[in-house]
Amino acid sequence: MKAAVLHGKRDIRMENIPNPKVEPGSIVIKVRACGICGSDLHIYRQGDKAGLILGHEFSGDVYEIGAGVADFKKGDRVTGVGFRPCGECYWCKQGMTARCSNMKLAGDHFAGAMAEYVLLPNAQLNRTVFKLPDTVSYEQGATVEPVSVGSFSVRRAKVAPEDTCVVIGAGIIGLGIVQVLKAVGVKKVIAAGRRASRLKAAKESGADMIIDAAKEDTAAAVIKATKGLGADVVFECAGQQATFDQSLKIARGGGKVILVGLYEQPVTWKPIDATNKNLTLIGILGGHFTSTMEYMASGKVNTKPLISHTFPLDKAPEAFATQSDAPDAIKVMLKM
Ligand SMILES: [Zn+2]
Ligand SMILES: [Zn+2]
Repeated sequence: MKAAVLHGKRDIRMENIPNPKVEPGSIVIKVRACGICGSDLHIYRQGDKAGLILGHEFSGDVYEIGAGVADFKKGDRVTGVGFRPCGECYWCKQGMTARCSNMKLAGDHFAGAMAEYVLLPNAQLNRTVFKLPDTVSYEQGATVEPVSVGSFSVRRAKVAPEDTCVVIGAGIIGLGIVQVLKAVGVKKVIAAGRRASRLKAAKESGADMIIDAAKEDTAAAVIKATKGLGADVVFECAGQQATFDQSLKIARGGGKVILVGLYEQPVTWKPIDATNKNLTLIGILGGHFTSTMEYMASGKVNTKPLISHTFPLDKAPEAFATQSDAPDAIKVMLKM
C-alpha cells in the first residue's frame, strides 16, 4: 500500500509498504480521509520518530475484520480511535481499556492512518469504532475526533444557555467548541484568535463576538463585553503562558477554566488568583464521539468551512508543509 512515512525533521516521504495484517480483536480500515493534527505537526517538526506513519483523525470503510470482533461488516463507513491498551494496568484489569495508563496510540507509537489502510487494535463498536451517519461525509468524518474533544469539553464544563463562554484559540478544537456551544444553546459565545482566516471561521461557526488577539487585548475586551463581571466559562485552547494568564483573569468569581490546549512549555502562575475567585479548573483529555456525530448529522455542527485545504495522499509532504506554514490553514486534510 501507499503510505506517508516520516523520515526526519519536516521530512515525510511516500513509500510502498506491506498492508497491515488483521489481528484477533482488530479491524483493518480502508482509509478515505485523514486530517493533520497539531500533535502530528509536533512529531513532524521533532522528526525523531523515523519510520512512523502519522495520522489519528480519519474516516474510512471497514475492510478486514479480525477474529472475535462482532458488530461490523465489510464496507461499514466508520471513524474511530486507534490505540493498544497494555492489558495489565489497574484500568485494563477492570475492563476500562479506554483509561489505560500505558496506552499506545496509532500515529504516535504505531502506524497511523496516513496510508491506504490502517489497523485498529481493540475494535469495539461505540467504544473505539463508530459508524458514520449517512449524512456525514468522509471529510467530516475525519473531523469527528478533533471536534469530539470540543463536545467532551462542553459536557465537562456543564454549560448553561445563559452562560457567557469565551473560547481562546481558534484552531479546529476551539472552533469545534464554538459550534458545540451554539448547538447546545449557549447564547453568548466570544472567540479570540490571531489569524484572519480562523477569525472568519469563528464567525461562520456562530461566535457572537470575535476578538482579534493580534490587535486587541483579549482580557480587556472580555471584561468590557461582560460589564466587568468576566466570563462564566473560559475554554483555553491555545496552550500558552499568555492565554493561561488571560483565562484566570477573565473567568468571573465562581467561574470555570477548561484547560483544553496542549501546553508544550510549563507555565508559572499564582494559585491564589484561582483561590481568590473560587475558580474551578478542569483538564481535558479525550473526546465524546457519539454526541459529535449527532450534531454533525443534524447540521448543528458543520466542519466543512474548517477544512481549509485537501490534498491527495500522494501529496502528504505538501500537505504537512501547508498545515505547518500556510497562514490560512485551519484543517488540512488528506484524501485517499
Ligand atoms: Zn489530534
Ligand atoms: Zn492498561
